[in-house]
Amino acid sequence: MTNDQLWQAVLGELELVLSRANFTTWFKNTFIVDTNDGRLIIGVPNTFTKTWLEKKYHEAIVSAIQNITQESVREVIYKVEPRRTDIPTGPAPATTEPRPITVSPSQQHFGLNDRYRFENYIVGKGNELAHAAALAVASNPGRSYNPLFIYGGVGLGKTHLLQGIGLNLLEKGARILYVTSERFTNDYIQSVRAGRAKEFKDQYRSVDVLLIDDIQFIAGKEATQEEFFHTFNALHQNNKQIVLTSDRPPKAIPALEQRLLSRFEWGMIADIANPDLETRIAILQSKCREKNVSIEREVLNFLASVVQNNVRELEGALNRILAEQDFSGGILSIERVKKLFHGMEQAVSRRDYVSPKQLLEIVCSYYSINHTDLVGKSRKRELVVPRQISMYLLREETQASFPSIGQEVGKRDHTTVMHAYEKIKRAIETNEKIKRDVLSLRQQLYM
Ligand code: ADP
Ligand code: MG
Repeated sequence: MTNDQLWQAVLGELELVLSRANFTTWFKNTFIVDTNDGRLIIGVPNTFTKTWLEKKYHEAIVSAIQNITQESVREVIYKVEPRRTDIPTGPAPATTEPRPITVSPSQQHFGLNDRYRFENYIVGKGNELAHAAALAVASNPGRSYNPLFIYGGVGLGKTHLLQGIGLNLLEKGARILYVTSERFTNDYIQSVRAGRAKEFKDQYRSVDVLLIDDIQFIAGKEATQEEFFHTFNALHQNNKQIVLTSDRPPKAIPALEQRLLSRFEWGMIADIANPDLETRIAILQSKCREKNVSIEREVLNFLASVVQNNVRELEGALNRILAEQDFSGGILSIERVKKLFHGMEQAVSRRDYVSPKQLLEIVCSYYSINHTDLVGKSRKRELVVPRQISMYLLREETQASFPSIGQEVGKRDHTTVMHAYEKIKRAIETNEKIKRDVLSLRQQLYM
């Protein structure tokens, strides 16, 4: 493992236990300067950060490092040093000029995922307006459309576009903050509780670009709306770019304060509609290129014809085929694919009707456990994993809010649900068993 990889892994762990605001504030522009003989030196941008990490996060950092290195690191120290942009093992650059701070937008940096670049976004009739607006914002932030408000149904590429803007501007050196509106709410509430409201304000108001995903969840949260209103104004007055996404237009967000509603309508409102057949096929082709696999045209056509109104599901269907191919070790025939997706057509139209109850029932029967245990308090692994998967699926499949999922699954706190959700989301990438379980469960939901 190189130092950079090690540090990425450590950041990944820390991200799980810190609030987004704290994570971004304190770990931006940190890196490993050197490791030798069980001693690890972390480079930080200034003494302020150094003190803070030593005082507040030392334990968390050490334990994350030890977890990952199997305890081979015994000592961790911090050193003020500008980020080197050359090869990590090379000599330090002989320049005294501070280098421009460029953060490589590698996976999940500041909530941004490298997969969601503009280059990977397929443009068709349904999304061309939103796409053009996103490009305009990225090439002229704060000046073309402010705010940009993108809305559309589930899985149609809102987050992708939003992050595309973020990645593009991050490369140009802008300070970006990407959060979901739930994260914003959560950070705000926690900061007030901890008497750190000022820090929160400073953090959110000091960025060049604020990207808020799924703003509809701000509905009904008065204190958060109030805070967001002021954040919005502060940024807008300074020509800082704001981009929002939502599953519905501003007017249709219930319990949204009038003053926010009117601000959301100040700039540009762009909707994303279902992709047409051609676009769906093009998306599948591009996903195949990304994954470096080839699938017969006939199969792609078939998939594009059964999964019509959700790109995430379309990708899911493709992944299912790839997993199946992996498993059986050969190319699937079109007949086999049709069999696999038998019943999918009805399922797609029934999708909206998956109730939380049905979902939990399916999870219970899949793992052969009972409902009481599933939602109960036991910390046994055989129950914890299905419980966390339930929360993940409830979120993904029913779009329920974190608090309501908490209610459904044994009256748990929404932060527990958020934690479970993020945990499973990551696990799917790294843990074959969990990936397969989630895949099969999803499939069962649509049977
Ligand atoms: P939303 O936020 O609208 O629910 P996402 O942005 O999360 O949807 O998109 C779901 C998945 O579909 C993502 O993996 C995304 O990359 C992919 N996707 C959506 N639209 C497109 C598109 N036009 N081109 C390529 N991939 C897309
Ligand atoms: Mg989204």
